[in-house]
Amino acid sequence: MPKQRVLITGAAGFLGSHLCDKFIQEDFHVIAMDNLITGDLKNIEHLFHLEQFEFYHHDVTKFVHVPGNLDYILHFASPASPIDYLKIPIQTLKVGSLGTHNLLGLAKEKKARILIASTSEVYGDPLVHPQNESYYGNVSTIGPRGVYDEAKRFQESITMAYHRFHGLETRIVRIFNTYGPRMRLNDGRVIPAFIGQALRGEDLTVFGDGSQTRSFCYVSDQIEGIYRLLLSDYVYPVNIGNPHEISIKDFAEEIIKLTGTKQKVIYKELPQDDPMQRQPDISCAKKILGWEPQVNRAEGMKITYDFFKGLSQDELTKKEH
Ligand code: NAD
Ligand code: UDP
Repeated sequence: MPKQRVLITGAAGFLGSHLCDKFIQEDFHVIAMDNLITGDLKNIEHLFHLEQFEFYHHDVTKFVHVPGNLDYILHFASPASPIDYLKIPIQTLKVGSLGTHNLLGLAKEKKARILIASTSEVYGDPLVHPQNESYYGNVSTIGPRGVYDEAKRFQESITMAYHRFHGLETRIVRIFNTYGPRMRLNDGRVIPAFIGQALRGEDLTVFGDGSQTRSFCYVSDQIEGIYRLLLSDYVYPVNIGNPHEISIKDFAEEIIKLTGTKQKVIYKELPQDDPMQRQPDISCAKKILGWEPQVNRAEGMKITYDFFKGLSQDELTKKEH
């Protein structure tokens, strides 16, 4: 039997590379695509020798062509950390809009099922807590985060339009803060930021008074949820995340304990439109997918810390921003 063929965009990034591993493990033929704007080939180089793996260096905002048939497409290409999308705002808008349009067109052409990576950011700075899928969100269209949030909201709309108008098989995952090995140390997201600071002997920078909350999901749980959603019959958005919520201030203290650093917490200005609270309501994922997270924060953070500890001194001190 020929293998089923899946195209994964954003494949050299954090989640994309873990998806490549998952689909290889499930015996798919994996076609990986990335323009390396925030990703790194070292995340997937261990797959290069496999016959069932191929890589295209391509910007998905340009016409996307893939030879042969495709059974599935997972569209994960997009800057994902606030400092990345603030640095490259136009590309962020383009990959969510033009890029998604190209991939929906490709899915239609190939009669493939497509899953797109949406985000808890579609809820903006939420006024409903925890956030369930029926909440419409509270997003500033013109604020600095709007480039990401609105691109993702457009992405959901055009995906549903292709489903309704063309009968395309579509899936939408709303991903809540996910962490684990292969995050970029300097991508500015809170987990690599705090661990990097601890490893370099710097103070941990909490933004605002640290009372804002997040709920962190370990990457293997996220990947399993996405995989189950892809293979399910459910076309509406599904939250995938870990509901265990913590304030950023308490989280910094947890990291100080985990790493044994002698440094302290220092406070910096809260970025504009930084959501004050975030926690997924995962009842839909539980019901539809029989999914819930298996890895608690202590276990997940230990694995993640070990990964960052393994980086070279050069990688640890390299500053991107
Ligand atoms: P990442 O930055 O590690 O990966 C994104 C990848 O997309 C990178 O390899 C980058 O080079 C690639 N890319 C960006 N623009 C591209 C383009 N125009 N053409 C081709 N490739 C392009 O980020 P991540 O955390 O792995 O996020 C992956 C996806 O999941 C994103 O769509 C993001 O919005 C979504 N998401 C992630 C999280 C999270 O917590 N990690 C939360 C919500 C949503
Ligand atoms: N944050 C912080 N210090 C840092 C980096 C981030 O206090 O060095 C805060 C940030 O303001 C936000 C939370 O941590 O309230 C999560 O930030 P992240 O960039 O990881 O993700 P997002 O805001 O997209 O959820």
